[in-house]
Amino acid sequence: MANTVIQVATNQLGEMKQAYANFLNPKLPPGAIFSAKKGSVSITAYKSGKVMFQGNGGEVEAAKWGQMLPKQAPKVATNSLPEGLARKDVLGSDEVGTGDFFGPITVCAAYVAKEQMPLLTSLGVKDSKAMKDPEICRIAEKIMPIIPHSVLLCPNPKYNELVDEGMNQGQMKAMLHNRALGNVLRRMWPAQPEAILIDQFAEKNTYYRYLAKESDVVREHVYFATKAEGLHLSVAAASIIARYKFVEAFSEMEQELHMPLTKGAGAKVDQVAAQIIKTYGEATLEKYTKKHFANTEKAKRLARL
Ligand code: MG
Repeated sequence: MANTVIQVATNQLGEMKQAYANFLNPKLPPGAIFSAKKGSVSITAYKSGKVMFQGNGGEVEAAKWGQMLPKQAPKVATNSLPEGLARKDVLGSDEVGTGDFFGPITVCAAYVAKEQMPLLTSLGVKDSKAMKDPEICRIAEKIMPIIPHSVLLCPNPKYNELVDEGMNQGQMKAMLHNRALGNVLRRMWPAQPEAILIDQFAEKNTYYRYLAKESDVVREHVYFATKAEGLHLSVAAASIIARYKFVEAFSEMEQELHMPLTKGAGAKVDQVAAQIIKTYGEATLEKYTKKHFANTEKAKRLARL
C-alpha cells in the first residue's frame, strides 16, 4: 500500500481534523492526534505535524494539504558512524595479504589521537591504495615509532593448518583484528580511544560470531566501515604498517628461496610457484603459500610439463 507523508504547520492540524470530522476513528495510534478513514484513504495526523495518507487515492488527498515529504533514505545495513569521526581519537585496524598466494595474512591495529593528525599527514599518511610499496615502507618506518600499534602475522604453515581444521579466512581475520586491537588497548591503558574503527571485511554479526570462542573480545565503541582508510587516519596508518610488514615478510621469503616472488594470485604467480616445485618440491611451496588457493593445482600442472 502506498504511503504519502506530508508535513503541515501544527496549527493546521485543527483545520484538518475539522475537515475530516465526519470520518474520524475513535482509535488512535500512539502519538497521533486524530485518525480518519475517508473512502479508501486512511489519514493519521501526529503531534509533530506529520500526516500520513494510506491507501488508494492517498496521494491525491494529501495534495490538498501540503507538500509530500521526500521518501526516507533506506537505513544503512551497518551501524552508523559517530559524527565527526575523522577528528576523534581512534584505534583503527586493517589487514593485507589475504588475496596473495605467497605470504602471510597481516593485520595491524594503530591508534591515532587528534593531536597527532597534523604530524601524520605531514609524514604522508593517507589512503595507501594509490601508493607504491617503497613509498608505503618509507612512511611506515617514520610512523611506527610514534603511534601505538600492534601487527600480527599468520605465517603460511599456521594458515594452512587452520584451513585444514576447517577455519575460513574471515574467522582468521576476525581473530587477528580482535587480538591486535586488544594489544593496543592494553598498551595505551588507562587512556582509551573515543572509537574503534575496523576496515570492514564481514558484517558486524558475522564478525562477532567468528569470535564466539575467543575469551577476550573487544566490543565497546567498535564501528565497521568499508574503505575505512579514507574515514580515519588510524586505519590509513594501520594499513600502511600492515603492508610494510607484509612486504618485509615477502622479501624474507625471497631471500630464503633465492628467487623473486610475485604478489597477488595471477598467472605469473602460478609460474613462480611451478618453479619452486621444480627446484625444492611441493612441500616447500606449501610452507610459503596459502595452499587452498587454486594456484597450487595450476602450479603442479605447470611443474609437470
Ligand atoms: Mg581492508
